[in-house]
Amino acid sequence: MFRVTGECGAARAAVLSTSRGSLPTPCMLLTARSGDLHSLTPDAVGRMAHPPGVMMDPMDFLDQPKPEGLLEYNKGIGTFLGLQNCCLIAIPRDPVAYAYGTKPNTKNSVYVMTHNGARMVTPEQYTNVIQAMKPDYYSSLPDESRITPEYWHHISLRCISLHKDRGLECSLFAPITGGMYRDQRSRSAMESIKRDVAGFSLCGFATGETPEERPALLESALQHLPPEKPRLAVGLGSPDDVLEAVDSGVDVFDSGFVHEVSAGGYALSFAHCLQSDAKIDPDSGADDLKINMWAQEHRDQRPPVEGCSCYCCKNHSRAYIHHLLQVHEMLAEILLHMHNVHHMGQFFDAIRSSIQEGKFADLKSKFSERRRQAMACDRGNV
Ligand SMILES: [Zn+2]
Repeated sequence: MFRVTGECGAARAAVLSTSRGSLPTPCMLLTARSGDLHSLTPDAVGRMAHPPGVMMDPMDFLDQPKPEGLLEYNKGIGTFLGLQNCCLIAIPRDPVAYAYGTKPNTKNSVYVMTHNGARMVTPEQYTNVIQAMKPDYYSSLPDESRITPEYWHHISLRCISLHKDRGLECSLFAPITGGMYRDQRSRSAMESIKRDVAGFSLCGFATGETPEERPALLESALQHLPPEKPRLAVGLGSPDDVLEAVDSGVDVFDSGFVHEVSAGGYALSFAHCLQSDAKIDPDSGADDLKINMWAQEHRDQRPPVEGCSCYCCKNHSRAYIHHLLQVHEMLAEILLHMHNVHHMGQFFDAIRSSIQEGKFADLKSKFSERRRQAMACDRGNV
Protein backbone atom coordinates (compact mmCIF):
# COMPACT_ATOMS: atom_id res chain seq x y z
CA MET A 1 0.00 0.00 0.00
CA PHE A 2 1.24 3.50 -0.81
CA ARG A 3 -0.14 6.60 0.91
CA VAL A 4 0.89 10.14 -0.04
CA THR A 5 1.23 12.32 3.08
CA GLY A 6 2.58 15.57 1.63
CA GLU A 7 3.35 17.30 -1.65
CA CYS A 8 5.54 20.20 -2.71
CA GLY A 9 5.29 20.80 -6.43
CA ALA A 10 5.71 17.38 -8.06
CA ALA A 11 7.75 16.09 -5.08
CA ARG A 12 5.81 13.78 -2.75
CA ALA A 13 6.29 12.47 0.78
CA ALA A 14 4.55 9.14 1.29
CA VAL A 15 4.57 5.82 3.14
CA LEU A 16 5.11 2.50 1.36
CA SER A 17 3.68 -0.26 3.58
CA THR A 18 4.45 -3.96 3.60
CA SER A 19 3.85 -6.86 5.96
CA ARG A 20 7.42 -6.27 7.28
CA GLY A 21 6.85 -2.60 8.14
CA SER A 22 6.64 0.77 6.45
CA LEU A 23 9.11 2.77 4.39
CA PRO A 24 8.74 6.55 4.46
CA THR A 25 9.49 7.94 0.99
CA PRO A 26 11.40 9.48 -0.72
CA CYS A 27 13.93 6.93 0.46
CA MET A 28 17.05 5.04 -0.53
CA LEU A 29 16.99 1.24 -0.61
CA LEU A 30 20.18 -0.56 0.40
CA THR A 31 21.43 -2.43 -2.64
CA ALA A 32 22.30 -6.06 -1.91
CA ARG A 33 24.58 -7.56 -4.56
CA SER A 34 24.23 -11.34 -4.56
CA GLY A 35 22.65 -10.84 -1.15
CA ASP A 36 25.62 -8.87 0.22
CA LEU A 37 24.97 -5.40 1.67
CA HIS A 38 28.55 -4.24 1.10
CA SER A 39 29.59 -6.50 3.99
CA LEU A 40 27.11 -4.94 6.44
CA THR A 41 25.96 -7.73 8.72
CA PRO A 42 22.25 -8.28 9.44
CA ASP A 43 23.12 -7.27 13.04
CA ALA A 44 24.48 -3.90 11.84
CA VAL A 45 21.43 -3.40 9.62
CA GLY A 46 19.15 -4.26 12.55
CA ARG A 47 20.75 -1.50 14.64
CA MET A 48 19.87 1.20 12.14
CA ALA A 49 17.31 3.76 13.30
CA HIS A 50 14.63 2.36 11.01
CA PRO A 51 14.71 -1.06 9.30
CA PRO A 52 15.78 -0.08 5.79
CA GLY A 53 14.36 -1.26 2.52
CA VAL A 54 16.61 -3.57 0.52
CA MET A 55 16.87 -3.86 -3.27
CA MET A 56 18.07 -7.08 -4.91
CA ASP A 57 18.61 -8.18 -8.49
CA PRO A 58 16.75 -11.46 -9.11
CA MET A 59 19.39 -12.34 -11.71
CA ASP A 60 21.81 -12.88 -8.79
CA PHE A 61 19.72 -15.89 -7.77
CA LEU A 62 19.29 -17.66 -11.08
CA ASP A 63 22.12 -20.04 -10.19
CA GLN A 64 23.28 -19.65 -6.58
CA PRO A 65 21.25 -20.45 -4.60
CA LYS A 66 19.07 -22.04 -7.25
CA PRO A 67 15.36 -21.14 -7.21
CA GLU A 68 14.49 -24.80 -6.57
CA GLY A 69 16.52 -24.78 -3.34
CA LEU A 70 15.05 -21.49 -2.17
CA LEU A 71 11.55 -22.71 -2.99
CA GLU A 72 12.12 -25.82 -0.88
CA TYR A 73 13.44 -23.59 1.96
CA ASN A 74 10.14 -21.73 1.58
CA LYS A 75 10.97 -18.76 3.85
CA GLY A 76 12.15 -16.43 1.12
CA ILE A 77 15.44 -14.73 0.41
CA GLY A 78 14.96 -12.16 3.21
CA THR A 79 14.97 -14.78 5.95
CA PHE A 80 17.73 -16.75 4.16
CA LEU A 81 19.95 -13.64 4.35
CA GLY A 82 18.95 -12.64 7.90
CA LEU A 83 17.07 -9.59 6.59
CA GLN A 84 13.60 -10.79 7.53
CA ASN A 85 12.66 -7.40 9.03
CA CYS A 86 13.52 -5.43 5.89
CA CYS A 87 11.13 -4.57 3.06
CA LEU A 88 12.53 -6.33 -0.04
CA ILE A 89 12.16 -5.00 -3.57
CA ALA A 90 13.47 -7.10 -6.47
CA ILE A 91 14.54 -5.16 -9.56
CA PRO A 92 16.33 -6.77 -12.54
CA ARG A 93 19.28 -4.41 -12.61
CA ASP A 94 22.54 -4.02 -10.66
CA PRO A 95 23.09 -0.25 -10.20
CA VAL A 96 26.78 -0.77 -9.40
CA ALA A 97 27.79 -2.83 -12.44
CA TYR A 98 25.42 -2.00 -15.25
CA ALA A 99 26.25 -4.08 -18.32
CA TYR A 100 26.74 -1.84 -21.34
CA GLY A 101 26.69 -3.12 -24.89
CA THR A 102 24.41 -6.06 -24.26
CA LYS A 103 22.52 -7.91 -26.97
CA PRO A 104 18.93 -6.99 -27.78
CA ASN A 105 16.08 -8.93 -26.24
CA THR A 106 14.14 -11.41 -28.31
CA LYS A 107 10.36 -11.66 -28.30
CA ASN A 108 10.47 -14.25 -25.52
CA SER A 109 13.65 -13.57 -23.56
CA VAL A 110 15.91 -10.89 -22.13
CA TYR A 111 19.71 -10.85 -22.42
CA VAL A 112 21.31 -10.47 -18.97
CA MET A 113 24.75 -10.68 -17.41
CA THR A 114 25.03 -12.89 -14.34
CA HIS A 115 28.08 -13.91 -12.29
CA ASN A 116 28.08 -17.12 -14.32
CA GLY A 117 28.18 -15.26 -17.63
CA ALA A 118 25.72 -13.85 -20.17
CA ARG A 119 22.46 -15.66 -20.84
CA MET A 120 18.93 -15.24 -22.14
CA VAL A 121 16.22 -15.30 -19.45
CA THR A 122 12.56 -16.00 -20.17
CA PRO A 123 9.62 -14.62 -18.15
CA GLU A 124 9.04 -18.16 -16.86
CA GLN A 125 12.60 -18.46 -15.50
CA TYR A 126 12.38 -14.98 -14.01
CA THR A 127 9.06 -15.70 -12.30
CA ASN A 128 10.51 -18.94 -10.87
CA VAL A 129 13.17 -16.86 -9.11
CA ILE A 130 10.64 -14.31 -7.84
CA GLN A 131 8.39 -17.08 -6.54
CA ALA A 132 11.34 -18.50 -4.59
CA MET A 133 12.63 -15.12 -3.32
CA LYS A 134 9.26 -13.93 -1.97
CA PRO A 135 10.03 -10.17 -2.08
CA ASP A 136 7.47 -7.57 -1.02
CA TYR A 137 7.57 -5.85 -4.41
CA TYR A 138 9.23 -6.69 -7.70
CA SER A 139 9.43 -5.36 -11.21
CA SER A 140 8.60 -7.49 -14.21
CA LEU A 141 11.31 -8.01 -16.82
CA PRO A 142 11.57 -4.93 -19.06
CA ASP A 143 10.95 -5.03 -22.78
CA GLU A 144 13.37 -3.54 -25.26
CA SER A 145 13.43 0.26 -25.12
CA ARG A 146 12.80 0.80 -28.84
CA ILE A 147 11.33 -2.06 -30.79
CA THR A 148 8.77 -2.98 -33.40
CA PRO A 149 5.07 -3.07 -32.43
CA GLU A 150 5.12 -6.86 -32.73
CA TYR A 151 7.40 -7.05 -29.69
CA TRP A 152 5.75 -4.23 -27.78
CA HIS A 153 5.32 -5.16 -24.10
CA HIS A 154 5.32 -8.84 -24.96
CA ILE A 155 7.71 -9.81 -22.16
CA SER A 156 6.27 -7.60 -19.42
CA LEU A 157 2.75 -8.73 -20.30
CA ARG A 158 3.87 -12.36 -20.06
CA CYS A 159 5.33 -11.60 -16.60
CA ILE A 160 2.05 -10.06 -15.47
CA SER A 161 0.17 -13.09 -16.75
CA LEU A 162 2.49 -15.46 -14.86
CA HIS A 163 2.15 -13.33 -11.72
CA LYS A 164 -1.62 -13.84 -11.79
CA ASP A 165 -1.59 -17.50 -12.84
CA ARG A 166 0.74 -18.48 -9.99
CA GLY A 167 -1.06 -16.32 -7.42
CA LEU A 168 2.12 -14.59 -6.23
CA GLU A 169 1.53 -12.67 -3.00
CA CYS A 170 4.15 -10.00 -3.68
CA SER A 171 3.16 -6.79 -5.47
CA LEU A 172 4.21 -6.12 -9.04
CA PHE A 173 5.75 -2.97 -10.53
CA ALA A 174 5.49 -2.30 -14.26
CA PRO A 175 8.74 -1.29 -16.01
CA ILE A 176 8.74 2.01 -17.90
CA THR A 177 11.21 1.77 -20.77
CA GLY A 178 12.03 4.00 -23.73
CA GLY A 179 15.73 4.75 -23.30
CA MET A 180 16.74 8.12 -24.73
CA TYR A 181 13.45 8.61 -26.57
CA ARG A 182 10.84 10.80 -24.92
CA ASP A 183 8.04 9.58 -27.18
CA GLN A 184 8.88 5.96 -26.34
CA ARG A 185 8.93 6.69 -22.61
CA SER A 186 5.53 8.39 -22.88
CA ARG A 187 4.17 5.47 -24.84
CA SER A 188 5.58 2.94 -22.38
CA ALA A 189 4.02 4.84 -19.44
CA MET A 190 0.63 5.07 -21.14
CA GLU A 191 0.66 1.33 -21.83
CA SER A 192 1.82 0.46 -18.31
CA ILE A 193 -0.95 2.36 -16.53
CA LYS A 194 -3.48 0.05 -18.22
CA ARG A 195 -2.08 -2.89 -16.23
CA ASP A 196 -3.15 -4.00 -12.77
CA VAL A 197 0.14 -3.15 -11.01
CA ALA A 198 1.13 -1.68 -7.63
CA GLY A 199 3.74 0.78 -8.94
CA PHE A 200 6.24 1.64 -11.64
CA SER A 201 9.96 1.08 -12.16
CA LEU A 202 11.67 3.68 -14.35
CA CYS A 203 14.26 1.71 -16.32
CA GLY A 204 17.46 2.61 -18.10
CA PHE A 205 18.49 5.83 -16.34
CA ALA A 206 22.16 6.73 -15.83
CA THR A 207 23.10 4.63 -18.85
CA GLY A 208 24.20 7.33 -21.26
CA GLU A 209 21.83 10.29 -21.00
CA THR A 210 23.29 13.58 -19.76
CA PRO A 211 22.05 15.21 -16.54
CA GLU A 212 20.56 17.95 -18.75
CA GLU A 213 18.54 15.43 -20.80
CA ARG A 214 17.26 13.53 -17.77
CA PRO A 215 14.47 15.82 -16.44
CA ALA A 216 12.65 15.79 -19.78
CA LEU A 217 12.98 12.00 -20.04
CA LEU A 218 11.61 11.59 -16.51
CA GLU A 219 8.80 14.04 -17.17
CA SER A 220 7.75 12.28 -20.39
CA ALA A 221 6.94 9.17 -18.32
CA LEU A 222 5.92 10.62 -14.95
CA GLN A 223 3.28 12.95 -16.40
CA HIS A 224 1.16 9.89 -17.27
CA LEU A 225 1.51 7.93 -14.02
CA PRO A 226 -1.26 7.92 -11.39
CA PRO A 227 -0.22 9.83 -8.22
CA GLU A 228 -1.46 7.12 -5.88
CA LYS A 229 1.19 4.59 -6.96
CA PRO A 230 4.95 4.61 -6.14
CA ARG A 231 7.68 5.29 -8.72
CA LEU A 232 11.14 3.75 -8.37
CA ALA A 233 14.25 4.67 -10.38
CA VAL A 234 17.58 2.79 -10.44
CA GLY A 235 20.86 4.58 -11.13
CA LEU A 236 19.93 8.03 -9.79
CA GLY A 237 21.55 7.84 -6.35
CA SER A 238 23.91 10.83 -6.15
CA PRO A 239 22.62 13.81 -4.12
CA ASP A 240 22.26 15.93 -7.28
CA ASP A 241 20.39 13.16 -9.12
CA VAL A 242 18.16 12.44 -6.13
CA LEU A 243 17.08 16.08 -5.76
CA GLU A 244 16.29 16.38 -9.48
CA ALA A 245 14.36 13.11 -9.54
CA VAL A 246 12.41 13.85 -6.33
CA ASP A 247 11.52 17.21 -7.86
CA SER A 248 10.07 15.29 -10.81
CA GLY A 249 8.06 12.93 -8.58
CA VAL A 250 10.30 9.85 -8.07
CA ASP A 251 9.87 8.15 -4.68
CA VAL A 252 12.37 5.30 -4.30
CA PHE A 253 16.12 5.13 -5.10
CA ASP A 254 18.99 2.62 -4.89
CA SER A 255 22.31 2.89 -3.05
CA GLY A 256 24.66 2.30 -6.00
CA PHE A 257 26.21 5.75 -5.48
CA VAL A 258 26.91 4.97 -1.82
CA HIS A 259 28.56 1.68 -2.80
CA GLU A 260 30.91 3.49 -5.17
CA VAL A 261 31.78 6.23 -2.66
CA SER A 262 32.50 3.70 0.10
CA ALA A 263 34.60 1.51 -2.21
CA GLY A 264 36.63 4.58 -3.18
CA GLY A 265 37.55 5.30 0.45
CA TYR A 266 35.38 8.41 0.80
CA ALA A 267 33.23 9.63 3.68
CA LEU A 268 30.21 11.70 2.59
CA SER A 269 30.27 15.10 4.26
CA PHE A 270 27.95 17.34 2.24
CA ALA A 271 25.46 19.63 3.96
CA HIS A 272 22.44 17.34 4.00
CA CYS A 273 19.73 19.63 5.37
CA LEU A 274 18.63 23.27 5.25
CA GLN A 275 20.16 24.04 8.64
CA SER A 276 23.48 22.33 7.97
CA ASP A 277 26.43 24.50 7.06
CA ALA A 278 29.22 21.99 6.42
CA LYS A 279 32.58 23.64 5.85
CA ILE A 280 35.02 22.23 3.31
CA ASP A 281 38.48 21.59 4.69
CA PRO A 282 40.70 21.67 1.58
CA ASP A 283 43.63 20.26 3.55
CA SER A 284 41.80 17.00 4.29
CA GLY A 285 41.33 15.70 0.74
CA ALA A 286 37.73 16.97 0.76
CA ASP A 287 35.42 18.49 -1.82
CA ASP A 288 31.89 19.77 -1.26
CA LEU A 289 30.43 16.22 -1.22
CA LYS A 290 32.96 13.99 0.50
CA ILE A 291 36.28 13.51 2.31
CA ASN A 292 38.98 11.35 0.77
CA MET A 293 40.11 9.14 3.63
CA TRP A 294 43.15 8.00 1.63
CA ALA A 295 44.66 11.50 2.00
CA GLN A 296 47.94 11.49 3.92
CA GLU A 297 46.72 14.35 6.14
CA HIS A 298 44.42 12.04 8.11
CA ARG A 299 46.65 11.33 11.10
CA ASP A 300 44.48 12.85 13.85
CA GLN A 301 41.87 11.55 16.27
CA ARG A 302 38.91 13.53 14.91
CA PRO A 303 35.97 11.40 13.69
CA PRO A 304 35.68 11.05 9.90
CA VAL A 305 32.85 13.62 9.90
CA GLU A 306 32.61 15.80 12.99
CA GLY A 307 29.17 15.93 14.59
CA CYS A 308 28.02 12.69 12.90
CA SER A 309 26.20 10.23 15.17
CA CYS A 310 26.85 7.05 13.16
CA TYR A 311 28.66 4.02 14.63
CA CYS A 312 31.80 4.72 12.59
CA CYS A 313 32.14 8.38 13.61
CA LYS A 314 31.23 7.77 17.25
CA ASN A 315 33.83 5.02 17.69
CA HIS A 316 36.67 5.58 15.24
CA SER A 317 39.09 8.27 14.13
CA ARG A 318 40.23 9.55 10.76
CA ALA A 319 43.68 8.18 11.52
CA TYR A 320 42.24 4.68 12.11
CA ILE A 321 40.15 4.67 8.90
CA HIS A 322 43.16 5.97 6.96
CA HIS A 323 45.33 3.22 8.45
CA LEU A 324 42.77 0.53 7.54
CA LEU A 325 42.75 1.78 3.94
CA GLN A 326 46.56 1.83 3.77
CA VAL A 327 46.79 -1.81 4.84
CA HIS A 328 43.87 -2.82 2.54
CA GLU A 329 41.74 -4.00 5.45
CA MET A 330 38.12 -4.51 4.33
CA LEU A 331 36.89 -3.07 7.64
CA ALA A 332 37.68 0.37 6.20
CA GLU A 333 35.00 0.00 3.53
CA ILE A 334 32.53 -1.49 5.98
CA LEU A 335 32.93 1.40 8.45
CA LEU A 336 32.81 3.98 5.66
CA HIS A 337 29.71 2.33 4.25
CA MET A 338 28.03 2.52 7.66
CA HIS A 339 28.78 6.23 7.76
CA ASN A 340 27.74 6.87 4.15
CA VAL A 341 24.43 5.02 4.53
CA HIS A 342 23.76 7.02 7.71
CA HIS A 343 24.63 10.30 5.96
CA MET A 344 22.36 9.58 2.99
CA GLY A 345 19.63 8.50 5.43
CA GLN A 346 19.80 11.93 7.05
CA PHE A 347 19.68 13.54 3.61
CA PHE A 348 16.46 11.65 2.81
CA ASP A 349 15.06 12.58 6.26
CA ALA A 350 15.66 16.23 5.34
CA ILE A 351 14.04 15.78 1.92
CA ARG A 352 10.90 14.26 3.44
CA SER A 353 10.68 16.97 6.12
CA SER A 354 11.15 19.73 3.54
CA ILE A 355 8.32 18.33 1.42
CA GLN A 356 6.00 18.14 4.43
CA GLU A 357 6.89 21.73 5.35
CA GLY A 358 6.60 23.06 1.80
CA LYS A 359 10.33 23.89 1.71
CA PHE A 360 11.66 21.33 -0.78
CA ALA A 361 12.44 24.02 -3.37
CA ASP A 362 14.50 25.86 -0.71
CA LEU A 363 16.46 22.70 0.12
CA LYS A 364 17.15 21.99 -3.56
CA SER A 365 18.20 25.54 -4.40
CA LYS A 366 20.44 25.82 -1.32
CA PHE A 367 22.13 22.54 -2.23
CA SER A 368 22.62 23.67 -5.85
CA GLU A 369 24.00 27.02 -4.73
CA ARG A 370 26.56 25.31 -2.47
CA ARG A 371 27.59 23.09 -5.39
CA ARG A 372 27.99 26.10 -7.68
CA GLN A 373 30.06 27.95 -5.10
CA ALA A 374 32.30 24.92 -4.53
CA MET A 375 32.87 24.42 -8.27
CA ALA A 376 33.64 28.12 -8.74
CA CYS A 377 36.09 27.86 -5.84
CA ASP A 378 37.74 24.79 -7.46
CA ARG A 379 38.14 26.65 -10.77
CA GLY A 380 39.66 29.58 -8.89
CA ASN A 381 42.24 27.27 -7.33
CA VAL A 382 43.38 25.78 -10.66
ZN1 LIG B 1 29.44 9.13 10.51
